[in-house]
Amino acid sequence: MATRTMKIAIVGGGPSGLTLASILGREAPNNEAFDITIFERGAADRDQGSGWDVDEEAQAALLRAGVELESFQRPRSDRMMSYRVDDMDRPIATFRMPPFISDLGVSKEQMGFLASPSLETERKKMVDGLTDALASHTKIIYESYISGLKMNNDGSIDVRGRDGSTLNGSFDVVIDSSGSGSPLRSARFAPEADAHYTGTTYVQGLIHSPEKTLDAELVRLLGEGTLTLYGPTRDGKGTEQLNVQRFGADPSDQVATIWIEVHSEDANRLIEELGFEGIYGITRDPAALQRVTEYTKQQLSGFPEQYQDLFDSIEGARVLPMRMHPFCGETLALTAPNSEGLPFLCIGDALHALPPWSGMSGNYALRDAADLATSLIKQQPREWTSASVAAALRGHERDFMLRTDEKRKATANRSPGYVDYMHSTEFTDFALSAHVLGKPPEEQWSTDDQVDSAVMAETIRFFVLLNSFDNYGMSES
Ligand SMILES: Cc1cc2nc3c(=O)[nH]c(=O)nc-3n(C[C@H](O)[C@H](O)[C@H](O)COP(=O)(O)OP(=O)(O)OC[C@H]3O[C@@H](n4cnc5c(N)ncnc54)[C@H](O)[C@@H]3O)c2cc1C
Repeated sequence: MATRTMKIAIVGGGPSGLTLASILGREAPNNEAFDITIFERGAADRDQGSGWDVDEEAQAALLRAGVELESFQRPRSDRMMSYRVDDMDRPIATFRMPPFISDLGVSKEQMGFLASPSLETERKKMVDGLTDALASHTKIIYESYISGLKMNNDGSIDVRGRDGSTLNGSFDVVIDSSGSGSPLRSARFAPEADAHYTGTTYVQGLIHSPEKTLDAELVRLLGEGTLTLYGPTRDGKGTEQLNVQRFGADPSDQVATIWIEVHSEDANRLIEELGFEGIYGITRDPAALQRVTEYTKQQLSGFPEQYQDLFDSIEGARVLPMRMHPFCGETLALTAPNSEGLPFLCIGDALHALPPWSGMSGNYALRDAADLATSLIKQQPREWTSASVAAALRGHERDFMLRTDEKRKATANRSPGYVDYMHSTEFTDFALSAHVLGKPPEEQWSTDDQVDSAVMAETIRFFVLLNSFDNYGMSES
């Protein structure tokens, strides 16, 4: 029997949606197997900033999608240095594999997390690579915000634009890859299962040429990787963290992102205060940049003077309240009525977002895309129906969420300690080991916790020592 074309809408042209579309285009048995339309709210040349450290499974997904890893990774960016602003002579932590240890044949993984940061990545290059790898018959429609879905009696689904009108006819399958703020998730889950605010908002800026605008010593410490500075909060009652990170995939591109992590009760407070309502991604609006510059200067007013104006030269900015979804079990207990049989599935951050400090949200998103592509390709030659596809999607939904649960638990446990610790620990008492473990000192009362903290502190110190033998990989100049 001839196979019937499966008409698929992918809502969101971010890493997960594009990876799915690209793999389907490359691995489908023929051009008639899938008819894919991607709806992306942003423009084709949208500004996207830095990416994330892509792990091995996510790299495999991108390779399947036809993207060369080198095209979006920054060479030599796998070095992270942390300093206290009151002692810039010696780092308090180095996240880097000391070369003489690799020469002895020891792997990064054997040395643990302090030795194994991955290369930083440029999100735009990853997204551009995925877009270039799309099959020629895959449609991508930019500046097309999808506001909702309409379920039809024959099992098909319409997608609706901002004004509520149906776009591009009906679809057999709709995949929601629109990220943690998905407007479509409510078709499958109750609002109580939406992503909740973690209490941390990133205020980020882009600096195109740190060499031209930042202090030469800071640029030297930054090198090709990441620099974190710890100093007092403006009220002196807590500890503030300031980060600078290179991410341009082209080695001659000096671009860096700079950010502070602000802890606030209300997810929207900073968005409103800084006038970022309705701004998606990075803005270059001079008035918005000015507000970010002034705000960060105030936030950093406890730091020595030379670090307070690091945001003065930013050329782009964004404000990101960090959110995470509940656990798989909680989410599946909150499904929307009559949604079980829908040929609709959320993937990536639309299904199971985690905050950046989990280090895994994007990696899980790309795994979802690759696994879903494999499944759809397997289903396509069979005599599929809306019900059979929906049944398969429900299985994936559970599996995709479930595999993030362990990391979600670790992140959920760590997040309050991580936020409270920074809030409540005066800089003079700040200990990186407690911050890394995410437990405020007053909660480190059990013997196990104290041992953990002491072991972590010594391990961090040992890594600094190991890295000092080649001057942390920095040039002396
Ligand atoms: C600062 C930072 C650091 C991070 N660090 C890490 C890390 O170290 N490790 C890690 O694994 N992950 C990390 N992440 C997370 C990672 O970036 C995300 O998990 C990943 O981008 C998710 O991909 P996605 O395609 O599912 O969703 P997104 O990247 O959110 O893409 C969603 C896409 O959908 C579009 N869209 C949204 N709404 C609509 C709509 N209604 N209609 C049409 N289009 C829409 C958006 O414009 C966007 O293009 C980090 C994130 C941030 C912000």
